[in-house]
Amino acid sequence: MLNYDLHCHSSVSDGTLSPTALVERAVLRGVTNLALTDHDNTAGLEEARAAAVSHGIKLINGVEISVTWRSHSVHIVGLNIDPAYPKLVEGLYAVRSGRGKRAEKMADSLAMAGIGDTLAGAYRYAGNPAMVGRAHFARYLVESGRSKDLKSVFSQFMTKGKPGYVPHLWASLEDAVAWLRGSGGVAVIAHPGRYMVGRNSMGKKTMQEFLSDFATCGGQGIEVVCGSHTLEQYAEFARYAGEFNLSSSCGSDFHGPGESYRDLGRLPDLPLGCKPIWELWESANTVKEV
Ligand code: AMP
Ligand code: MN
Ligand code: MN
Ligand code: MN
Repeated sequence: MLNYDLHCHSSVSDGTLSPTALVERAVLRGVTNLALTDHDNTAGLEEARAAAVSHGIKLINGVEISVTWRSHSVHIVGLNIDPAYPKLVEGLYAVRSGRGKRAEKMADSLAMAGIGDTLAGAYRYAGNPAMVGRAHFARYLVESGRSKDLKSVFSQFMTKGKPGYVPHLWASLEDAVAWLRGSGGVAVIAHPGRYMVGRNSMGKKTMQEFLSDFATCGGQGIEVVCGSHTLEQYAEFARYAGEFNLSSSCGSDFHGPGESYRDLGRLPDLPLGCKPIWELWESANTVKEV
């Protein structure tokens, strides 16, 4: 039985496990085809590949690019990419370069709300200091008793209108998709359900405009089954996939034991009628019989 998990994080970005430990956990949970998709960074792929080879599972080279589309922060997952493609390497470097300054501003904003000393706390959780981000602040805010768990951190802090929120300009949608496609990979909209909740969320019309822009740029896929989606959202985004002729992806978005909605490999099958995203790269490697 094949078990695809095409979205997860290691300590190279904001996951808590090393690439090796992540692959080992995936193996134990029956994953046969794993994509490591660290935020704006491909530095964990080599280690993950070595672990995958030694355990006999397939590793798909991935990344999750932070994008600003209109006033929305969205994430675009790249799959089957070439991490050495120069435009991708340069692009990702530029996207992650502002994180240090942003973290300082986040700490200042939290301090203004009476929550001091978060910067050093956040960096303690950042396995890779260059990738310091909201998940690292979130872990410290839980540790220091400001919130009971990660979910409540993000309802109290660091989102639009809340203490610790710092607006940030990430990559453009066009650039992100072009880097991924140029490297030989496919571009996939990550966790679309998340863009339709909370302050400044997308309504249905805006979601359709987003999907249309994405497809026009060369985007080919959407996460239909993902860790943060409900059963209703599987059906909802399967419909959007059909409407915009996108392939469907599935990924846990696992960040660490005890932290994520779903563990590695613990996802239901894609709804009937969805075109699996992996056919886009697997068919290219298959010699068709005539
Ligand atoms: P950043 O890239 O610094 O903006 O941080 C984004 C990361 O914060 C995401 O990739 C998640 O790891 C985490 N995050 C954002 N929103 C939530 C949420 N509602 N619940 C749990 N983690 C979240
Ligand atoms: Mn994350
Ligand atoms: Mn994401
Ligand atoms: Mn993710």
